[in-house]
Amino acid sequence: MSTTYISTGLRKLVTEQAQHRCGYCLRTEELLGMPLTLDHLMPESAGGVTAEENLWLACPRCNQFKGSQTHAHDPKTGEWVALFNPRLQKWTVHFEWSADGIYIQGKTACGRTTILALQMNNPEIVVTRRQWVSVGWWPPSD
Ligand SMILES: [Zn+2]
Repeated sequence: MSTTYISTGLRKLVTEQAQHRCGYCLRTEELLGMPLTLDHLMPESAGGVTAEENLWLACPRCNQFKGSQTHAHDPKTGEWVALFNPRLQKWTVHFEWSADGIYIQGKTACGRTTILALQMNNPEIVVTRRQWVSVGWWPPSD
C-alpha cells in the first residue's frame, strides 16, 4: 500500500467516481465500516503515478493482495493476463455472482486471474458475505 501523500480533494474525487466501493470485490465503505483505500492501478513500484487516472478505490484486503501485481497467470489456461482495471473496465463484463450471491466468479481470463490474484473469495470474506446475504445486504444489485 502506498505511503505517498494524496490530497483530500483527489481522494474525494476518486471516492465519488468509484461510488464509495471497492473496484474489485464491490464492498462498500458502509459495509466495511471504515474508509476504503486508494489503489494505484499501475503500482508506484512499477512507475505508476499518484494521479486521478491511476487511482481507484479498493478495500484493504483487495489492495493488500494486489500489492505490486499487474498481471498473473490465468488459472484455466496458464496465460499471463493483465489484472482487472476498475477504472477502465466494466465489472459485469469480467465477473458475476454465484447463484447464492456469495462467490465472485470470473467470466473472462481477466476475471478469473484477478479473483485468484486478489483472493477475492478468501475464507474470511466468504463467511462475511454469507452473513450479508442472510440479511439481504448482498449481493449488490448493479
Ligand atoms: Zn475489495
